[in-house]
Amino acid sequence: MQLLEEYITKYGEALSEHVLKVDAFLNHQIDPELMMALGKDFCEQFKDKNIDKIITIETSGIAPALMCGYIMEVPVVFIKKSTSRILQDDCYQSEVHSFTKNIDYTIHCSKNYVKKGERVLFIDDFMANGDACLATLNIIHQAEASVEGIGIVIEKAFQGGRKKLEDLGYSVYSQARIQSLKKGSITFLK
Ligand code: 5GP
Repeated sequence: MQLLEEYITKYGEALSEHVLKVDAFLNHQIDPELMMALGKDFCEQFKDKNIDKIITIETSGIAPALMCGYIMEVPVVFIKKSTSRILQDDCYQSEVHSFTKNIDYTIHCSKNYVKKGERVLFIDDFMANGDACLATLNIIHQAEASVEGIGIVIEKAFQGGRKKLEDLGYSVYSQARIQSLKKGSITFLK
């Protein structure tokens, strides 16, 4: 997506060969106009899938997912990373290894908000090794809902996430695909 690539080129920082910082428009400060453009693009991509619900993971998937949900007129559920006493009982859980923090943690989703037979679109801000996505798909399967699409804002194509998902039979749509972050330079896979 041309506009997103322009934002990444202008405001993104390659912190290392593996980590891209996009705090200026997605992970800290959020650009609403860009988020709406991302939401429209996801909507266009998945418009024939009869989506009932969008699922994302807190925090940075929420903004693009919400815009897409607004346009598609479907609810948006965000999977929680933190435990709460209220949430503990009636929820699905799955384990994730965090790429950025190098720790394992448990994600949770209330059984009230993902139901058997629902057609779900998963949206997230980044895909690196695909672990956050796989853990969310696990929750969707536990609920006996169906995964109708996977939409990623920024895919680091030099990491293994896409392959893991494709090997399991899923297709992944990414709005920007980073080819390399080597030597502080951000290049895209077209
Ligand atoms: P994965 O589970 O695919 O390895 O990593 C995906 C999650 O890690 C994303 O939801 C995102 O929060 C975080 N992440 C992975 N790589 C990056 C990166 O290069 N930059 C930022 N800002 N977040 C990342």
